[in-house]
Amino acid sequence: MISIRDMSFEYPDSGFSLRAGKLDIDSGQTAAIIGPSGSGKTTLLHIAAGILLPITGTVRVSDTQISHQNDAVRRAFRIANIGLIFQEFELLEYLTVRQNILLPYRINPALKLNASVRNQAAALADATDISETLDRRPDRLSQGQRQRVAICRALVTGPKIILADEPTGNLDPQISRTIVQVLLEQAARRDATVLMVTHDHSLLDRFDRIIDLEDLQ
Ligand code: ADP
Ligand code: MG
Repeated sequence: MISIRDMSFEYPDSGFSLRAGKLDIDSGQTAAIIGPSGSGKTTLLHIAAGILLPITGTVRVSDTQISHQNDAVRRAFRIANIGLIFQEFELLEYLTVRQNILLPYRINPALKLNASVRNQAAALADATDISETLDRRPDRLSQGQRQRVAICRALVTGPKIILADEPTGNLDPQISRTIVQVLLEQAARRDATVLMVTHDHSLLDRFDRIIDLEDLQ
């Protein structure tokens, strides 16, 4: 669940500001965010992730009012509760696919890697059809396979919130549809809430709802 009230945000020394009076995304709901380039879609995701803090208003994610927590608390909350997926995949080329999926456990001491996590990584790879790539490096994968790895990495910690920023921006239309399907299927299995930015209107029919950034202001 994501709940935003009377929120305003500005970057220091930039003319850009973002406002959202009321935005509620229920638990397990999937929402696509649309809006022109530069309208603040990425900014909104970063506010929902607690990476950026609003100037006024409240942002509640699951049961935590992240807009009112300090950096350390927001970071810990993000690690434990939010899965992030980006356009550029951001895989580490010197690690295998398996190691990339398990990366959150490598970089966050708060997360403990154990047999059940390893099983979860293997199950995700299987469900997203990349099992045979687990011991390869990402440079040997197709673009679609790379984004599947990023999806597995975002889900391996079992987050209840998934935030995806134009995850199909680098993929051709056919592969984009499959990737969105894989993402939504895996999210639904875990009853996770999904907020995904996209400029590809052919993908919108897959979502429970569409949020046009220009209606939020
Ligand atoms: P979108 O994702 O919809 O393309 P963004 O949220 O990335 O839009 O950016 C919204 C506006 O804020 C743009 O005008 C952008 O130039 C500006 N902006 C983005 N990041 C920063 C930053 N770190 N500092 C100042 N301005 C920024
Ligand atoms: Mg953006």
